[in-house]
Amino acid sequence: MIVALLHRLKKLPRAVHGWSVMMKPQVVFVLGGPGAGKGTQCARIVANYSYTHLSAGDLLRAERSRSGSEFGQLIDSYIKEGKIVPVEITINLLKKAMEETMKADEKKFRFLIDGFPRNQDNLQGWNTVMDGKADVKFVLFFDCGNEVCIDRCLERGKSSGRTDDNRESLEKRIQTYLQSTRPIIVQYEKQGKVCTIDASRSVDEVFADVKNILDKES
Ligand code: UDP
Ligand code: MG
Repeated sequence: MIVALLHRLKKLPRAVHGWSVMMKPQVVFVLGGPGAGKGTQCARIVANYSYTHLSAGDLLRAERSRSGSEFGQLIDSYIKEGKIVPVEITINLLKKAMEETMKADEKKFRFLIDGFPRNQDNLQGWNTVMDGKADVKFVLFFDCGNEVCIDRCLERGKSSGRTDDNRESLEKRIQTYLQSTRPIIVQYEKQGKVCTIDASRSVDEVFADVKNILDKES
């Protein structure tokens, strides 16, 4: 009897553990201008917390170079022009990446979604496809002046190989950011969901603030 009971108790953590199969993805949107440091800070977060980093831009670039992709050309021209790719494409890539992550490891249900949602179309697409399927916990907003953003991207452009880290594309990206992405951040601010960080400082200084926020929020 006791042995059977112990056996069942031993099994319990596994059953509880098994619950996470049904865990809803917990999402933090990471927003900020081009070069604000979203990718850099996300890498730091991943090294210190149990989050999976999904960069919408990286997913689009991977899709652009996937042989057989029907969207390669379209993505390429949107990225160079600093325009926002139609959400049908981006949301499918994000959803697939989330599903694959959770399928491979049921404990990986916390996501940093970097560089999305960037405009109203993105937000609508997210709400349509993901409503009820994922919880948006809050938005990490890396706030940084345009000049600093441009300088950082030009510096990155020396080695990044990115087709949009040049002055011409950058000016368009900044315009897109100000016209389309800032209003999304404002909308989330009104819901009290935005944690703003002064991203013009050093990586270490910014990350110290990030840590404070994650320790409080997570
Ligand atoms: N992009 C998009 N939708 C997204 C994310 C990115 O259309 O949800 C495109 C857009 O053209 C953007 C480019 O990909 O200018 C680069 O995005 P990324 O997030 O990599 O740039 P970052 O802001 O990190 O410098
Ligand atoms: Mg990035």
